[in-house]
Amino acid sequence: METAEFEALHSIWKRLPLHPPPEPFESMTSYLIRLAEENGLRSMSGFVGLLRISYGRLTSICTFPDYPDPFAVTGLSQITGCPEERLQQTTFMPLALRFGRGTAPHTFQQFLAGSLASGLRYCPCCLAEHSPAHYSLLWRFLALPGCTEHGIQLLDQCGHCQSPLPLLSFPPKLARCPTCQGDLRRGPVRRQSSEAQRLSHRRTEALQMLLSPLPGLPDQAQAKMIGKQYIAKRLKLALLISEVADLLGIDQSVVRDMEQVSKLRSASLKDYLRYADALSCSTREIFDADPNQEALIPLNQVFKLVEAAMQQLEKQGMHLTRRNISNLVGMEADRLWDYPRMVSGISKRLQSQIPQSQAEKIEREEEVVKLVEQAIEQLKAKGVRASQRRIADLVGMTHWALRAYPRVKARLEQQASSLSPLDRHKVVQEAVEQARVLGTSLSYQSIGERLDISAETLRRDKRIRAIIERAQKESRQRRENELVSRVEQAIEELVSQGKKVTVSSVCQLVGVDHRVLERRPQIRELFLVLR
Ligand SMILES: [Zn+2]
Ligand SMILES: [Zn+2]
Repeated sequence: METAEFEALHSIWKRLPLHPPPEPFESMTSYLIRLAEENGLRSMSGFVGLLRISYGRLTSICTFPDYPDPFAVTGLSQITGCPEERLQQTTFMPLALRFGRGTAPHTFQQFLAGSLASGLRYCPCCLAEHSPAHYSLLWRFLALPGCTEHGIQLLDQCGHCQSPLPLLSFPPKLARCPTCQGDLRRGPVRRQSSEAQRLSHRRTEALQMLLSPLPGLPDQAQAKMIGKQYIAKRLKLALLISEVADLLGIDQSVVRDMEQVSKLRSASLKDYLRYADALSCSTREIFDADPNQEALIPLNQVFKLVEAAMQQLEKQGMHLTRRNISNLVGMEADRLWDYPRMVSGISKRLQSQIPQSQAEKIEREEEVVKLVEQAIEQLKAKGVRASQRRIADLVGMTHWALRAYPRVKARLEQQASSLSPLDRHKVVQEAVEQARVLGTSLSYQSIGERLDISAETLRRDKRIRAIIERAQKESRQRRENELVSRVEQAIEELVSQGKKVTVSSVCQLVGVDHRVLERRPQIRELFLVLR
């Protein structure tokens, strides 16, 4: 920032009387609590004033604690003089960049699903010994069982009254239980087994690395580099994609996403960490690899795996197509067939299978129908719902490939329609929930596609209509609220910088076209005043 501009800002944004810098790996929530406490702010409105943010924004910080929030970071930077880049490290921002994820809470939340504790986890000894006492961002991760410095388990409730502890409460008070006012520094100390201590060490090392900023590479390239490391390690152990998926108990598509970075980005942080464990390599080996050095894929291993894949396909009565093979080996088809020896060695076997005659196609369809039936039976026996995705995984084909066969498609649809009305409501509710978390479409069409139920069937059911329409309405409302608060924020920001507040300057800051914004009645009113 230019000096003059900086000074102009400085005169508007008063510095807090006391503004110590954040501690290494201190979380944003911890830093906020410390700042508020040291400067004698006791209420929510004190916080709102502290950060110069709206109440809506504060709610979002409380709902998604420690998620990167550009407004909070800017506000904090201005009142503490701490650079924004440093403040971003008190959030999950470095993690999002490393895995090529967007930083908006609703998309990023899916990536962190199941990885974060919703409340405070802490080491009582760290709180007692570190000065100033603060909460570590690492403690938020459930993958971390204990404190490596003290060799003890992290606690997730008050040691005096056993209440769970919120990350942010009012009045803000560090190391105190808001329920009984007990001192968290005097919590019970439970030693970790040596095995648990080793795991804590591994996880601390991994999380410290993942939460540190990474200069250089653009996001997607970084995620792709990580994927290549996974492929190389897996090939060294001669494991097929299907075997890894079984080992981790996850869909094959998730393994492929980690390795090849699919558009859908279905893998979560938990999957990445567990995958590294399954390959028995440290996360450092994978995430800290030299991006300029292509991960070496041992050629012999590739041949071995292609053989294994072909055997598996033959055993399952599936075609030895290049696509099927490369799907199992887990390499992009064109890359796999780049190896000349592979092509000459295997093409004979492939040619004996293709092209298919019409009769063969019908026979093949018959086979797939049988496999699907078996998969449905198997799932029923396990007591889980025979969803399209589970069936596809068991059969070892993508659900798109399955649906390419008309009879299979009909069977899948029949399977979906055989649900009792109660079950159908439940799966619709689940699909709506999932779409909400993923931020994908809530239209009848896309919910229906996800469940193999036609949009018309969904529309005919009154309860389902109510579920979907309520979700659509809520999502519209959420988007609207979000936009309104962004517009308010932009106006505040322009005013505070002494700039002219016009419709176009606001739209530019918000980054949304004025025609889109003006569709919302509340924003239209705001703009009328500006015009
Ligand atoms: Zn500790
Ligand atoms: Zn308590």
